Amino acid sequence: MPVYGGIEAGGTKFVCAVGSAPDDLHDEIRFPTTTPAETIGRAVAYFEAQAKKYPLAAIGIASFGPVDPDPASATWGHITATPKPGWNNIEFAPVLRRALDVPVGFDTDVNGAALAEYRWGAARGLDTFIYLTIGTGIGGGAMVNGALLHGLIHPEMGHILLPPHPDDPYPAGFCPFHGNCMEGMANGPAIEKRWGQKAETLPADHPAWALEAHYLAAGLANLICVLSPQRIILGGGVMQQTQLFPPVRTRVTELLNGYVQSPQILQAIENYIIPPALGNRAGVLGAIALAEQAASSA
Ligand code: ADP
Ligand code: ZN
Repeated sequence: MPVYGGIEAGGTKFVCAVGSAPDDLHDEIRFPTTTPAETIGRAVAYFEAQAKKYPLAAIGIASFGPVDPDPASATWGHITATPKPGWNNIEFAPVLRRALDVPVGFDTDVNGAALAEYRWGAARGLDTFIYLTIGTGIGGGAMVNGALLHGLIHPEMGHILLPPHPDDPYPAGFCPFHGNCMEGMANGPAIEKRWGQKAETLPADHPAWALEAHYLAAGLANLICVLSPQRIILGGGVMQQTQLFPPVRTRVTELLNGYVQSPQILQAIENYIIPPALGNRAGVLGAIALAEQAASSA
């Protein structure tokens, strides 16, 4: 069985692992995201050491963004215009490729998570679906007709514009670019700013959650109309509030109003909008899945 390296590159921490599947991970390390040189350097050193024990067939990187995932681009594998201090226009994947001399798969964190759910989790057997994380930001990855969607750059599903709800005490929203986009209305920091306390401290019966369910559902209704996904997987810290799933499903049904004539939506929406099967492992397993994909296309 070939062994792969995977990097879940987050804005606050990196997780690096070696293995081939959820039940076949040989080693894992995590460290904080500091400067690019130090953080990427630690990842290189880790894989150089691991490669002595486990010859690596490829490395996959599932990264915070924005990124350049286009293999034909001069800046392939770079983190591009990120607001994260120090990380603007940083060469990332090519550094690993030069140091380890193996194929390197590079994509967004959410495309990686989508690929992992496709390979081992809640999207097995599907060819068109969405994985969304509702956390510090809102980001979406999509597989369309069996391939991860990139298009122009990569999808930015969290930034679709949503009409403010009449009951919203802060209808202007919080996205510095768009105000009332889905992220600006419904990410963890938006909940915290709107209600003056951290999302995880709000009681389950707080009005915050009905409003949150509405905004998530409005975003999902738009995405359903655009991509016709066969399933939508919702992960991220905010979705730890599992009481959100039933009202999100109900509100999606109400907003679509019977228009999308699919039994998955009309009769079995509890299997249509679901949590990730891989839980918080989707990130690092996504990186392993990207490595597997890079090895098979090399
Ligand atoms: P990140 O997006 O930074 O990778 P998370 O997905 O954990 O990390 O998202 C962090 C955000 O999710 C924070 O805004 C936090 O307040 C919120 N959050 C984390 N855990 C919970 C929880 N149990 N309930 C509600 N919100 C949460
Ligand atoms: Zn926005």
